Amino acid sequence: MTTDVVIIGGGYSGLSAALHLAQQGVDVQVVEAHSIGFGGSGRNVGLVNAGLWVPPDQVEAQLGHHAGHTLNQALAAAPDLVFQLIEQHQIDCQPVRNGTLHCANNSVGLADLKRRLAQQQKRHAPVQLLDANTTETRTGSGQFIGALFDPRAGTIQPLNYAFGLAHAAVAAGAHIYPQSPALSYHHDDNQWRVTTATGSINANQLILATNAYDLNLTATPHHTPVHFCQFATQPLSTQQRAHILPQGEGCWDTAQVMSSFRLDNAGRLIIGGVGCVEDAGKQTHVNWAHRQLRALFPQVTDYQFQYAWSGCIAMTPDHLPKIAHIGPQAISLYGYSGRGIGPATVLGKAAAQWAMGADPASLPVAITLPKADHFAPIKAHYYNTGARVAHWFGRRLGR
Ligand SMILES: Cc1cc2nc3c(=O)[nH]c(=O)nc-3n(C[C@H](O)[C@H](O)[C@H](O)COP(=O)(O)OP(=O)(O)OC[C@H]3O[C@@H](n4cnc5c(N)ncnc54)[C@H](O)[C@@H]3O)c2cc1C
Repeated sequence: MTTDVVIIGGGYSGLSAALHLAQQGVDVQVVEAHSIGFGGSGRNVGLVNAGLWVPPDQVEAQLGHHAGHTLNQALAAAPDLVFQLIEQHQIDCQPVRNGTLHCANNSVGLADLKRRLAQQQKRHAPVQLLDANTTETRTGSGQFIGALFDPRAGTIQPLNYAFGLAHAAVAAGAHIYPQSPALSYHHDDNQWRVTTATGSINANQLILATNAYDLNLTATPHHTPVHFCQFATQPLSTQQRAHILPQGEGCWDTAQVMSSFRLDNAGRLIIGGVGCVEDAGKQTHVNWAHRQLRALFPQVTDYQFQYAWSGCIAMTPDHLPKIAHIGPQAISLYGYSGRGIGPATVLGKAAAQWAMGADPASLPVAITLPKADHFAPIKAHYYNTGARVAHWFGRRLGR
């Protein structure tokens, strides 16, 4: 086949790019190795955050004031874009825009939240620091000494958001091919050629959107893979969840080995933490999740985990997302470092604008050369072993 733009990867990055290109009448083809949302986009916690994990002052210190400010502004508005797309395309993904709570486990965590609060207030963000009592009322847990509430944020059912973007892109005219791993890509005669097992696609431009799930297309690692696992209970009874997150916020904490919790629409309590449930560490993480749930919500006694899964985060050395130049008329989007629902939607849209000839200076992130991270395999081992050790000791030592 021949097309204008070929995209490799059917997660939020690739699908947002495809949607925004197709809406402007650009011919676009997406190949996805597995099913839509197979990567991080179908496995994440569902927290639609404003901004990155890295606090905004640090983003500006790392990128320089102008570039950092541009990225901070674009990503502060990322939830607006996500919830607008959901509304516009009627995406059935349990959207709840009631904010998020970043919960402090101890005084060190609270000090970090106070620093974040000051940086956000400087930028007129409507965040609020909640005291211990209010945090207990809002979460239903007495484990925290405060929380930073961000009303710009919200939660979604992540896989359904990916499906919805794919449907919207197809409705706008994009062609999406699941179960079609790209085996290679080459630039010849001013054209990109992406080859799959059964054919190839020639295109003027290429967008690589494989992030942490790259199937050997990139020879050197540019990010560290970090696993995060989640455990969902059966839908809890009204009585069991009477005091848990009555306003429906999504939560994560300030612990060194971070964890998350939220309720879904059916009333399942979903607990998450660093680690993988697809390797030998599974039982350690399952045991940790039970201890974590009982510590957070001792009133929930009669439950079982109905689902458990994990996914892989692409962590860059500076924890900032990248648009990398990978050849003539070709870019790669990656490195969301655990904050990708909003950022990948925004960068996918930016990639579409790039393909349509936008001034690179107008993009939220500068297009840079990809930087290899040769220590990635060692760091991945460190994070994953560290998570296992922390989850083994964690609650036993009272953290
Ligand atoms: C467990 C977990 C929890 C997270 N929690 C949050 C959260 O709460 N909030 C938040 O904002 N972010 C979160 N993130 C991050 C977020 O999910 C990701 O940053 C985001 O989904 C990245 O989207 P993507 O499209 O770039 O990559 P992906 O969704 O990973 O998509 C890449 C796709 O490329 C495909 N692919 C790979 N190689 C090939 C090939 N050769 N040919 C064709 N296709 C290929 C893969 O199959 C995959 O579907 C989390 C991530 C994980 C893993």
